[in-house]
Amino acid sequence: MNDPFLEKHIHDIPDFPKPGIVFKDISPLLASTEARIKMTESLVQKFKKDNINVVVGIESRGFLFGMLMANALNAKFVMVRKPGKLPGELIDQEYELEYGTDTIEIQQNAIQSNDNVLIHDDVLATGGTAAAAHSLISKLGAEIAGYSFMIELDFLKGREKLPASKTHSVLHF
Ligand code: 5GP
Repeated sequence: MNDPFLEKHIHDIPDFPKPGIVFKDISPLLASTEARIKMTESLVQKFKKDNINVVVGIESRGFLFGMLMANALNAKFVMVRKPGKLPGELIDQEYELEYGTDTIEIQQNAIQSNDNVLIHDDVLATGGTAAAAHSLISKLGAEIAGYSFMIELDFLKGREKLPASKTHSVLHF
């Protein structure tokens, strides 16, 4: 059951960015202090006892609450970004899109093999992005304690690409 207070801060935008797609707009959630606090608590609650020391946020909307989650868990915050945005030694991971491929990158020294990582993005849709983040962080040898999303689009079955017991979403649509 979705929390009605949080649910009313997510707005459906029909035909965005393309005809036939109903986009979940998180702007009303960002605008409310009470909603931000409640969402952050809901994102970290399940993982509080897991000794998470790094929260990884996926560009770009994964940065917004990823940072708040890192504060709440007293953990480091690390960015996973699109190509060409991060300086220094990088590790990358390619993944499939509906048409073509995309790549994500992370700084090689951002995560150590003894880190315990929580991966965060705003939306779990097909799961391609989160699965690529999993592969990327696994290359650095770190443990992935879990995956925490604000919104899961259940009908796209992204959860099947991730370990179900470690995957948590605050709102399901
Ligand atoms: P996936 O790789 O799971 O198919 O897609 C997840 C990515 O697409 C996330 O990074 C998310 O930001 C974006 N995304 C997909 N659908 C939506 C949507 O309806 N609303 C928002 N805010 N982001 C979406």
